[in-house]
Amino acid sequence: MHTIAYFDSSHDMPEEVITAAGFSPMKIMGDVHASNDPADQYLQKFFCPAARSFLTQALAQSHQWAGIIVAHGCDATNRHYDVWKLHVKTPFLYWFNSPIRNDAVAKRFYIEELKRLIAALQRHYGISISNDSLKNSIAQSNDIKRRLRKLATLRSEKDISNREYFTLVSACMTKPKEECISLLQQAKSDWESRPEFPSHKKRFYLTGSDITYAEWMDLLDECGIRVVRDDLSIGERYFANGFPELEDPLEAIAEYYLTIPRPATKISLDGRIDFIVQSLKQTHIDGVLSQNLKFCEPYAYDAVTVNNELRSHGYKVLHLEREFSPAFDQQVMNRIAAFTEML
Ligand code: SF4
Repeated sequence: MHTIAYFDSSHDMPEEVITAAGFSPMKIMGDVHASNDPADQYLQKFFCPAARSFLTQALAQSHQWAGIIVAHGCDATNRHYDVWKLHVKTPFLYWFNSPIRNDAVAKRFYIEELKRLIAALQRHYGISISNDSLKNSIAQSNDIKRRLRKLATLRSEKDISNREYFTLVSACMTKPKEECISLLQQAKSDWESRPEFPSHKKRFYLTGSDITYAEWMDLLDECGIRVVRDDLSIGERYFANGFPELEDPLEAIAEYYLTIPRPATKISLDGRIDFIVQSLKQTHIDGVLSQNLKFCEPYAYDAVTVNNELRSHGYKVLHLEREFSPAFDQQVMNRIAAFTEML
């Protein structure tokens, strides 16, 4: 068992510590095709359905994993940790307390939490995690993020479906890192030779709750929308920045995770809006799609302020709520069609 799975409601889990420990990190994505009945034995149905799907996956697959780490993000991560402690069978379950702030105090706190995580892994698995292995993991992550950044820019130039983009980014969070680099190399030669961006499609910015299944990206393509920029965790948040080159790898990891684009689960809202506005200035887009998974409160709270701010900059914004389902929602499609007709 070489996989350590992690529950991360945004991009809070320092995968580099897991790879430096000799394991393959795997983000738990859930399975939108599977019933959530196993998780619903322990959680109310008004709890975030994506998070319930993560628990369903953990209940079914934890025997294949060397351990599980829950990274502090939205409230689902906190509550799940308590439920998983009781019901998910795993030799190693760890709570990584990623801070919600990103100031100097938070950075000191973050570095202490990194040390605690490293100590717990060393103790449990009888291994040693050296500074050199952390630096190698950081270099590998930088390589993957740099490749993803280049590929992501092709979305607004070439005929690359929403599903292809989503599948590639999610593979980088779920497959062994060497395999990811090979997938990225293949995608580069494939995507660069694609036909030009289809003239009948609209270029969109996608924000809101994280999309965890490809069918929702298919729905957007079906509606004539191509996502050419986004601020999702299974998206640009994962690769927008690289790790700084610092002598101390823990400093570099802390600096990276506290300066990446902010999700709604963290302070600050201004930082989140700034990142979106900067992205919108860099790439021509026809509209912004803000979507909220039902019961995902962090993004529901932020959406009004974020969307009003984007509208005040002159952008056309559609906000909608979606179900956790692979089936195409005709009402959602009608709303998108009505919106794109106005553009
Ligand atoms: S969709 Fe929202 S509520 Fe659910 S895990 Fe993600 S951030 Fe948390």
